[in-house]
Parts: sequence; structure tokens; C-alpha cells
Amino acid sequence: MDINTEPPQASLQAMPSPRLLVASYNKLILVHEADKRLKEQLASAGLNRNAFFVQLAPLFFNEGVTEQYAVCLVHRHYELVDGERMVTNSSGNSTRPSIDESPNVVADSWLATGKAFEYRYTNHPGLFAPPSADFFAKFKAILDAYGIDTLGICSVPDVKKLGPGFTFLEMPGDHDRERVTEIVVGSLIAGNSLIYEVTWIAEKDSEGSFMLTCQCNCGNCKEPPPTKPPTKPPTK
Ligand SMILES: [Zn+2]
Repeated sequence: MDINTEPPQASLQAMPSPRLLVASYNKLILVHEADKRLKEQLASAGLNRNAFFVQLAPLFFNEGVTEQYAVCLVHRHYELVDGERMVTNSSGNSTRPSIDESPNVVADSWLATGKAFEYRYTNHPGLFAPPSADFFAKFKAILDAYGIDTLGICSVPDVKKLGPGFTFLEMPGDHDRERVTEIVVGSLIAGNSLIYEVTWIAEKDSEGSFMLTCQCNCGNCKEPPPTKPPTKPPTK
């Protein structure tokens, strides 16, 4: 082997997820816009969502990552300021802006390009390794084939917490730019035009076929989200 050969590119890619910059995060579209855009992209490709998911679900089985990763609708709710990231707490029920740079804050949502855009706090950082560059490449290739740029990858929600017929629902919380995640009866939110499916996990359907099934929904904010984070009142 020629010792002057450049090292293989793959060895340079085996690094933690690159971060999506705050300015780019703030340009992510809101959930109702993302839902609409996904539907438009599927229509342009001549597919309904299930027909597309049948194409995408086998990747998760073939790569053996159905317990680790799921598909998410890429969207944001609030704007961040420099230094902030949206971080879900260790219980998984509250997501807020955080400036915590400790190793306990790990990426848990990624664009198809591999850039991390949301995070979680964990006492077990090793459990939240990002998908491999190879997995991102295969995922993006399937999306690109159908002209879809609205889906990303996230850590699998803790579906063990869900009883039969229950689902996760993400809603505005009481704190500054907070989203809270609750467990609700799925039939109670079915058909609600202000609630959108945002996370789908790979599983076998009743006929044993690979499919993506919704396990988390997102309730749109009743009020438009603030364009800027709240600031301290001016001092007199
Ligand atoms: Zn949401």
C-alpha cells in the first residue's frame, strides 16, 4: 500500500454529530408548516404517507436499529438565542432551551444530513450514540429519491411507558419556551386538526410487514410562537 495515500475519508467522519447552528435552527419551519410540506412532497412523488413509509421502514430493520432510532417530522416551536439548545429532561417529559454544555447533554434528533438539532439530558450518555454516517446516507438516499426533505431521525421514544391505545402528545408548557410531553388516549386526539403526527417508530404491522407507526403527536401552539425569547423588563 502506498504510504503517501490520504487516510480514508470515513475515518474523519467517525465523530460526534455536528450541531445545527442556532441561526439555522431558528429557520426550521413550525409543525403545521412541516406537516403541510410533507403532504405536498408526498403528493408530488405520487405517494400517500403509508406507501412512502413502506419504502423507508425496512432500512431500520435491515440496520438493526428499530430499538434505537425513529423517524421524526423536522420542526421547531421556539426561537433560540446563541448558546442555547433545546434539551429534553432525563424523564423525557419537558423540553426547554438550555446552555448546559456537559457531556450529559447528547443529541437525540438529527436532520437527514446528520446535523443534530435537538438534545436530551441523560445520566447514560453512551446509550445515545448518533446513527452512523452510513445510516444517514442510506436514510437520505431514500428521502431524496422521493423529493422529501421534511423528515429526520430521532431517538426512539420510550414506548414501554405507553399502554395499549395510548400515545405521547407534546404541548406547550408553562415555563419559558417549554414543550411538555404527556401520555394520552390516542382516540381522544384522532382527527384533531391542531394535532400532528411527528414521530414514527419502525415495527411490524398486523400482517407482519415492516411499517412506521406514529407514537408521538404534537399539539400546535394556540398562539403563534414568540418571534423572540422573552427578555427582562427594562430597568428604571
Ligand atoms: Zn413539536
